[in-house]
Amino acid sequence: MVALNVVAQQFQSGAAAAAGATPSAGATPASASASASASAPASPPPAAVAPAPPAPPAFNRGAFSVDDPNSIWVVVDKLRPITDGATFVPPDLVDLPSDMPDPLGYMLRADAADALHAMFAADKAEIGTQLVAQSGYRDYEVQVRAYQHYKDALGVAGADQTSARPGFSEHQTGLAMDIMDTSSGCDLETPCFGSSPSGIWLAANAYRFGYILRYPADRVAVTGYESEPWHFRFVGVDLATEMHTTGVSTLEEFFGLPAAPGYAG
Ligand SMILES: [Zn+2]
Repeated sequence: MVALNVVAQQFQSGAAAAAGATPSAGATPASASASASASAPASPPPAAVAPAPPAPPAFNRGAFSVDDPNSIWVVVDKLRPITDGATFVPPDLVDLPSDMPDPLGYMLRADAADALHAMFAADKAEIGTQLVAQSGYRDYEVQVRAYQHYKDALGVAGADQTSARPGFSEHQTGLAMDIMDTSSGCDLETPCFGSSPSGIWLAANAYRFGYILRYPADRVAVTGYESEPWHFRFVGVDLATEMHTTGVSTLEEFFGLPAAPGYAG
């Protein structure tokens, strides 16, 4: 019994493996038993069943207006002109922070500008490219000239694939930015940016900052615009995240609005 007690104590102290103790043949079963009882932890109490986390509240698709041009959820497309578009000016336009390349001095609404600033910084930190704010808020008169430029060059049908008619441009809401970078060598006329590192990163990550890629390549029939891998629209993090999570890429589909492949008249 003395030997067995020693073996048991050695197991209890965890030293048996190094002790070289060799119990007699007759003692082996007992020492094995002692080992088992000493080293096996007592059965744990049944794990408490964690209460199921409360279901997240259903996303409220009516939280903001899709009609009011002052709303961050306003949906502007070829069937949904900006209300009072000839005179509408967003309420809180600001210049972009000075550390953001903005060669033409475009403005955005304040929240959209803050989010864009954070997105540019994250892009630089995560993939090392430098994004450029290429075209932001455009007022009605600028859009008149922009559309006329394309109409002169391409005709009405061609212009309508490329540029919004005055009063129908998201850029007039102060919530849209065309983004380029300093390294891809791309421009606003070709799909090139979409396959560049910056364009790929933006498409995958813009939602984190409340932006969505507004004119995806596979949604031309819904949006009425050819793929614009540079055109990002601020809708706020809640909506952008919900769209990302549910995999619904256009505002029209998310809100159950009609597809807008062309103008009504
Ligand atoms: Zn644009």
